Amino acid sequence: MIRVNENYKKLKASYLFAEISNRVSEFQQNNPDKELIKLGIGDVTKALPDSCIKAFHKAVDEMAADSSFMGYGPYEGYGFLREAIVRTDFESRGLEISENEIFVSDGAKCDSGNIQELFSNDIEVAVQDPVYPVYVDTNVMAGRTGRWENGRYEGLIYLDSTEKNNFFPELPDKKPDLIYLCFPNNPTGTAATKEQLQKWIDYARENRSLIIYDAAYESFIRDREIPHSIFEIEGAKEVAIEMRSLSKTAGFTGTRCAYTVIPDECTAYNPDGTPVSLKKMWLRRQSTKFNGVSYPVQRAAEAVYSPQGQKEIRILSDYYLKNAGIILTGLKKLGYTCTGGKNSPYIWVKAGIDSWDFFDRLLTESGIVCTPGSGFGKCGAGYIRISAFNSRENVIRAMDRFISYPV
Ligand code: PLP
Repeated sequence: MIRVNENYKKLKASYLFAEISNRVSEFQQNNPDKELIKLGIGDVTKALPDSCIKAFHKAVDEMAADSSFMGYGPYEGYGFLREAIVRTDFESRGLEISENEIFVSDGAKCDSGNIQELFSNDIEVAVQDPVYPVYVDTNVMAGRTGRWENGRYEGLIYLDSTEKNNFFPELPDKKPDLIYLCFPNNPTGTAATKEQLQKWIDYARENRSLIIYDAAYESFIRDREIPHSIFEIEGAKEVAIEMRSLSKTAGFTGTRCAYTVIPDECTAYNPDGTPVSLKKMWLRRQSTKFNGVSYPVQRAAEAVYSPQGQKEIRILSDYYLKNAGIILTGLKKLGYTCTGGKNSPYIWVKAGIDSWDFFDRLLTESGIVCTPGSGFGKCGAGYIRISAFNSRENVIRAMDRFISYPV
């Protein structure tokens, strides 16, 4: 008898964005004339940069002739893209990352979800709360947690990120083996300083833990003292893996390209304590389960790292950051307490009431869709997330309509 993976039964019934979509559809059916502004799901709205489109077209044309056609590519990505990534994202900041430590993929979601396969099932896992749900759900599916109880999974270590600690988690008493950190953070919009991250790296080194550092929003960092990469932190190469994405950086949410950095020094351990190279394990995993990102997409991604591409993506992130600034100023004027919105496209807003109640009121009274903070974890209760990924016009109109605090 074919039996199911029972861990799937532990997953919460409704994925956050599915529930949002249900409520929005119901509202639209009952109010067909009301026009909605969606500041919920963090999907970009602006087209791909010009240089990407040109490179994309050219690569598609190459596929049309036998002489330039490309079949299966290298599992870890084409050399031309890995070399461009190293030069632009790391060498330019004085960081020594080599091409063979870069693994190109079709998304930071896939990478951050798949990476847990490399580790034993009985490790202790820590996640920030509120959290990007992928880290949690993939560990639930793998059987690393108990049941969902009182808004949390048994067996997971939750790192509270609240107003009290300025949304940056403290080191936990119980020692995790695997730690997921995301900065600039989704959903709170908090960016981490070098000093803050150094504490986590030192902690991971002391305890032989591993940090999965999700830097999907790195391109929104503007403050000079905020590090763009975990590898700017001393000792990080031994204990950290970094994930980056072109989704928010260059508008690739529908095009799909990202990468993961696994340094040569980065290891996990056999039961007897002997170290094992994670880079080798990941290559083994990718070569078994993944056949790479399509050639035209990798050429389009390469164009992001050209001087012109870099200028164009800066314009994109500046645009969304300006939206974020307008939202932040608007909400503060209306009396809200907010974080994020600087070095991040997300604004984390204290709702003053239950997250879903606020969501419903904002939808019905203002025709604005937000994301209820409680969907990201227990510590998100009483908060909402507003995304700056929208047109300037919509953002300005949304601020004109937004309900004041207290609601
Ligand atoms: N990591 C974080 C923290 C995200 O918020 C998202 C998307 O919203 C992703 C990863 C997904 O990135 P990608 O589109 O590359 O899969």
